[in-house]
Amino acid sequence: MFNKRVKVKDLLASNDTEREVTVMGWVRTFRNNQFIALNDGSTNNNLQVVVELGLLDETTLKRITTGASLKVTGTVVVSLGKGQRVEVKASSLEILGDCDAEKFPLQPKKHSLEFLREIAHLRFRTNTFGSVFRLRHSLAFATHKFFNDKGFVYLHTPIITASDAEGAGEMFRVTTLPFDAPPKNEDGTINFKEDFFGKSTNLTVSGQLEGELGAMAFSEIYTFGPTFRAENSNTTRHLAEFWMIEPEMAFYDIEDNMNLAEEFIRYLIQYAIDHNRDDIEFLDQRLAEEERQKPQAERSEFGLIEKLEFIIQNKFERITYTDAINILLESPAYKKKKFKYEVKWGIDLQSEHERYLVEKHFKKPVIVTGYPKDIKSFYMRLNDDGKTVAAMDILAPGIGEIVGGSQREERLESLEKRMREMHIPSDEMSYYLDTRRFGTVPHAGFGLGFERMVQFVTGMTNIRDVIPFARTPKNCEF
Ligand code: ATP
Ligand code: MN
Repeated sequence: MFNKRVKVKDLLASNDTEREVTVMGWVRTFRNNQFIALNDGSTNNNLQVVVELGLLDETTLKRITTGASLKVTGTVVVSLGKGQRVEVKASSLEILGDCDAEKFPLQPKKHSLEFLREIAHLRFRTNTFGSVFRLRHSLAFATHKFFNDKGFVYLHTPIITASDAEGAGEMFRVTTLPFDAPPKNEDGTINFKEDFFGKSTNLTVSGQLEGELGAMAFSEIYTFGPTFRAENSNTTRHLAEFWMIEPEMAFYDIEDNMNLAEEFIRYLIQYAIDHNRDDIEFLDQRLAEEERQKPQAERSEFGLIEKLEFIIQNKFERITYTDAINILLESPAYKKKKFKYEVKWGIDLQSEHERYLVEKHFKKPVIVTGYPKDIKSFYMRLNDDGKTVAAMDILAPGIGEIVGGSQREERLESLEKRMREMHIPSDEMSYYLDTRRFGTVPHAGFGLGFERMVQFVTGMTNIRDVIPFARTPKNCEF
């Protein structure tokens, strides 16, 4: 029977000694033919298993190598050694799986993140990735708890969509047509009527449009699922497959939307601090070490825990896009020509501009609202000035954009006008326009990139290190 085992985390937290337990896990280290550091992934803290001399024969002792998996039964005793309160004195030990120490790529030493990315199937067994993925789990769980407690309905929006209203050009096509000889129309174009769905289809870039349809009945919904973007950007913040949380709320204006997003981000951070203190402390140390490798000028002023606590305690700055442009134009960086991209009203803020606002000027998260309508999507609500829309982006230190959202255009005529101007085919979108025809209401929503949130909480600089198996341009291993 395997399920009688005790998890290492529970065992280490308990003061209940002199009882018999069975533990299972993988060997991290084995010292002096006597002390095994055993880990089962429930915590970074290893359980010390003591093998008394004479318990095992030579051959078995030799098989206790880093990476091998064990089943150990023994007595919980107060530890005499440093570093742990309790340990297990083994009375029997079984090797479940051998691990050839010569071939096992994980040695009990520090490996680079780049190297670990190449063995992503094994990196879960390191302290860094143990902490990162336990935190990722907690943040996912906290997401459901946050919205569930508020009465939002979790709506599963489709992965395969026919809509190309958003993200045209950055979508992955879904097809069963043969590549070598696809059926053609008379004009030589591909005949998608013969494709699986009878039309051209893609992987979704966002669940928002379908989310809006749900909000028009349940009032408040959220989605939390994978999204796909074939954008060819090899950055530390972009993945081709990433997870997005998209709440969509009826009877919300842009301000309600900002308040919800801010409350949600704070909730996630607080949840992680309350439930994964050990993991955050470990990552705080890891980051401090990484920072020490950098030249003084590039080091960040805050440690990870300091940063997270600061976010919980301080309200986000709220500014308009116009304010943002003015701040940039008056900045020393602009005057010294430090920006690579042009700054003037109407531009899309580049990452260097966002970083300046957040990291240099305000030194805290910033919510920017009122973007020019021409750089934003067709569904964003037009402001009374006729030039800007009720959009909001939340920019975070070290990450850049973490949330993108808006109040949606609920007025049918305005929406149709924007769609014409932006060449969005309204016949294909008539289902979407129906919500504006049949009992339209003011509503709003946003998308939070889950991996960027995990980056923020874990302090990991590369987005590839916060998703189990990253999909990026020219890379789809595992
Ligand atoms: P960016 O300008 O950073 O590419 P975006 O404007 O394309 O972001 P949205 O379309 O508003 O982003 O998507 C909502 C959120 O999804 C973003 O705020 C971000 O957190 C996240 N996101 C967007 N693209 C990616 C990606 N390729 N990989 C990971 N997360 C992403
Ligand atoms: Mn993008």
